[in-house]
Amino acid sequence: MKAITLRRYGGLDALTLEEVPDPTPTEGEALVAIEAAAVNHLDLDLRDGSSRLPLELPHILGLEGAGRVRSLPDDYDGPLGVGDRVLIIEDLPCGTCARCRAGRGNLCEQGEWTGVGRQGTYAELIAVPCAGLLPLPEQRSAAEWATVQGTFGTAWHMLVSRGNVRPDEWVLVNAVGSGIGSAALQVASLAGAKVIATAGSAAKLERARELGASATVDYSRESIGEMVTEVTAGAGVDLVFEHVGGQVFVDSLAAIRVGGRMVTCGAHGGEQVDLDVIELFRAERQIIGSMSTTVDEVRHVVAMVGAGRLDPVIDRELPLAEAAEAHRILADRQAYGKVVLVVDAPSKT
Ligand SMILES: [Zn+2]
Repeated sequence: MKAITLRRYGGLDALTLEEVPDPTPTEGEALVAIEAAAVNHLDLDLRDGSSRLPLELPHILGLEGAGRVRSLPDDYDGPLGVGDRVLIIEDLPCGTCARCRAGRGNLCEQGEWTGVGRQGTYAELIAVPCAGLLPLPEQRSAAEWATVQGTFGTAWHMLVSRGNVRPDEWVLVNAVGSGIGSAALQVASLAGAKVIATAGSAAKLERARELGASATVDYSRESIGEMVTEVTAGAGVDLVFEHVGGQVFVDSLAAIRVGGRMVTCGAHGGEQVDLDVIELFRAERQIIGSMSTTVDEVRHVVAMVGAGRLDPVIDRELPLAEAAEAHRILADRQAYGKVVLVVDAPSKT
């Protein structure tokens, strides 16, 4: 099969399209012909070695993907059939450890992580444990489905499960043009909250307003604090959807009302920040960590997308061979929504 193979940590030129042996499913695994692989910002960090997640090289990147079942184990008796369209669960929990038993499978340390500990989705074929495949409706494209887990799954976990978003709350959604930012705008709106969206360009903010944001902040030239004060009549926001880090994290924290909260899942803009502890506790603000999403949440957002209540936002689709260009677009923050690699069906062998 063809696959984007990483042989060393590095820049865009470390991504090369190669002919590699087809994966061989082991016990309990299905073979899936990948139709689309959504590019995740973590893929970039894994590529350049900054992710704090060591890879076994050579490696095939790709956390997110959708495709069609090519083969199933001889003894398989579940709901899937050959030819069915499926979502590949990005981080399949073990199901038996204390965290899994407590319903916190997203924090499982013994799980199967596609594109990190296992082969990823930047390839024509992938072997996946059958338990890690979710059947998908046919009414949307594979590219749209490939984005659902990393965007709506993550945003749902952050805003609903961790952030407890409520109707009429003011929610600050940072970097609204990113995959998860554009998803957070929809999830917060669906919950009945009002969104103040931030981004670094006027074009992205105009798009965010078209998609439902009540107010916007261009953080390349406007102050988050001043704009939030103006929009909320001095009160501050109830909840911050944060995944930027650095100064944006600091400014957003200061924009939260007394008793409000921030949920964070990313820090590309700076992993270490100055924190005024006195301000934090006197105002009883909460900073809440959020990691990935659970399988139940993914199942839920798949149903919501299938029902038309959430709508995947795709910036562009590129052929698998242009993985490096996809990484460049993400790194340059040019996209509004997800960048997806579309994979042609491999010839049957
Ligand atoms: Zn577990």
